[in-house]
Amino acid sequence: MIPSSREECEALDEASPFARTRELFDLPNGVIYLDGNSLGPLPKVVTSRLSRVVEEEWGQSLITSWNRHGWFDLPRKVGDRIGRLIGSVPGSVVAIDTLSVALYRLLGAALTLRPNRRTILTDTGNFPNDLYIAQGLTRFLGQGHEVRIVEPDAVASAFSPDTAVVMLTEVDYRTGRRHDMADLTARAHAAGALTIWDLAHSAGAFPVDLQGVNADFAVGCAYKYLNGGPGAPAFLYVRPDLQDEVRPPITGWWGHAEPFEFSLDFKPAHGITRMQCGTQPILSLSALDAALDVWDGVDMTALRRESEALQALFIDHAEKLCARHHLRLAGPRDMSMRGSQVSFHVSEAYAVMQALIAEGVIGDFRAPDLIRFGLTPLYTRFSDVWDAAATLANILDERRWDRPEFRIRKPVT
Ligand SMILES: *Cc1c(COP(=O)(O)O)cnc(C)c1O
Repeated sequence: MIPSSREECEALDEASPFARTRELFDLPNGVIYLDGNSLGPLPKVVTSRLSRVVEEEWGQSLITSWNRHGWFDLPRKVGDRIGRLIGSVPGSVVAIDTLSVALYRLLGAALTLRPNRRTILTDTGNFPNDLYIAQGLTRFLGQGHEVRIVEPDAVASAFSPDTAVVMLTEVDYRTGRRHDMADLTARAHAAGALTIWDLAHSAGAFPVDLQGVNADFAVGCAYKYLNGGPGAPAFLYVRPDLQDEVRPPITGWWGHAEPFEFSLDFKPAHGITRMQCGTQPILSLSALDAALDVWDGVDMTALRRESEALQALFIDHAEKLCARHHLRLAGPRDMSMRGSQVSFHVSEAYAVMQALIAEGVIGDFRAPDLIRFGLTPLYTRFSDVWDAAATLANILDERRWDRPEFRIRKPVT
């Protein structure tokens, strides 16, 4: 049942299992934050953890911290904590680098597992960055690989005997449209191809079951739904039985079987460790590790239920209030095919979003005409969604977006 008054929203908020997790975040007063799909807010525990890491671990324990405070194991420890949220067994995820670099590593490793095939299959719904990474890698390899880009609904029928890898982002960053990961992974395997799933808009947004769908590889970033902070390390998953088979394209000492033997030849470590490369950013990893505390005890099925209810409310309320402004929902209406965000096509979308931000409702703009809102049950309330839709309607009704300063494009949209 979609709530039909603000009072009903408040009642739902009070009864919500996520009233507890909201308290764990440091959210500014007077702001409705609907951009946790781009940069998650600050979990309070991160502040104290970072000052402890800086003052006590780095400041006092100095280099002994690598052993004494578990710095050396941190990428795998954090990886396992993320692994719980994406349906993987311990020892198959590592927190590392940025998503872009992690993707490069996985794509390079996957291509060497299919040496006689030349096609990387992907789609127009992918984040362009991922296509750039594939294009750069294939150009560097110089072995005639092709990055084949089809429409999202054409992927299922686009496999050929030449497909080495299908590389997809599960949830479209613009529309929120979600691929059927189980079906496409099964089709890829039937065609003899490997899968790389980008979980940037999946991890922490809803339950993911990498093991259950038998995915080969996955990457994701931790600064979105996982709230790890700006530029937080990414994560990388390799299916357990592939881990000792993959040949990582970047071979550094942290991926060596015996890094402190300092031998002259690279010998890959067992397991996921071989995907590591060099010294990891311990401050960022520590912030991410602390940020993951807010997930302790969170039931991902309950999270999904709340996310669907928040989306349904926002879509319903915004469409009713903004009917005369030709607001058009992006992506499918079927909840099983949606991630955890709502985007609308609207004219003057950029200026409309600037006006919303000026009035304390933070979402973002995606070219050419989308206003986009991330709905994150850990801290987004039904009453926030109710109020955000009302603010949007007021801005459109009164043309409050129609000011010169709202048309000035900033470098980051
Ligand atoms: C956010 C996002 C990225 C960003 O990659 P970085 O290396 O962290 O800049 C990549 N892919 C997708 C699908 C994203 O949504």
